[in-house]
Amino acid sequence: MSEEKRVNLYGRIFIKGHILAKTGLHIGGSPAGLAIGSVDNPVIRDPLTNQPYIPGSSLRGKMRSLWEKAHGRKQNWPIGKGVNIHICEKLDDYNDCPVCPIYGVPGQLDASSPTRLTVRDVFMDEESAKQLRKQAQTDMPYTEVKWEAAIDRVTSAATPRQIERVPAGTKFSDFEMVFSVYEEKDLARFLDVLEAMQLLEDDYLGGSGSRGSGKIVFEGVAISARATRSKDGYGKEIIDCPASGSVSDLLDKKTEILTWLEEKIKIAKD
Ligand SMILES: [Zn+2]
Repeated sequence: MSEEKRVNLYGRIFIKGHILAKTGLHIGGSPAGLAIGSVDNPVIRDPLTNQPYIPGSSLRGKMRSLWEKAHGRKQNWPIGKGVNIHICEKLDDYNDCPVCPIYGVPGQLDASSPTRLTVRDVFMDEESAKQLRKQAQTDMPYTEVKWEAAIDRVTSAATPRQIERVPAGTKFSDFEMVFSVYEEKDLARFLDVLEAMQLLEDDYLGGSGSRGSGKIVFEGVAISARATRSKDGYGKEIIDCPASGSVSDLLDKKTEILTWLEEKIKIAKD
């Protein structure tokens, strides 16, 4: 990419709401931070409150991975431990790719415009936290410990192991995803984010999904936008989109949402 690349930010679109864990949720923490007396597979916790939280990177990573597979993109880029993701290495591929402009490519490739989607960390809802503190029966603060049989692939022997989970019914609020608009095509790309959220609801977040953990649902989802080039000043106003509800409610209103975005975020034709 040449140095003459210009980047115009036309606006930002926000998706907010809360996340409900429909089944126990295990998003792994670092074993390096293990305290004595903790479980084998701990959840990640906010060091300030000791409450489990959902890292934005986990949400985003899972949405990306499901979106890549929904589009059959080549899994060409190793990210460690035998895990590959899809990354476009050529600018031509990138421009038409359904994945990379939204979810980004490594900085060193420099074949790209800025990543469209930012996903922030989501913390436990205060009401849920209060309830879990009251419940004396949680095994660990705010969590339960589930025993699972890990099957050795060679010997077929079953070894019990512990998985720490946030209990089903726990609410996390508010999640926030921010989608930046750099070109006209981005307005339609935004709808792809809603579809990836749907893919995630139908799949699972975190670990142990094939054993029933990690079913989540996005609730009370609201969309708003801030144009960075409005006549009334530099992005003073955040405007709420009339469409809101569940992800599937929003997907039913894709056309209306797109029309609304085109109206609120004007793309210069220069
Ligand atoms: Zn790509």
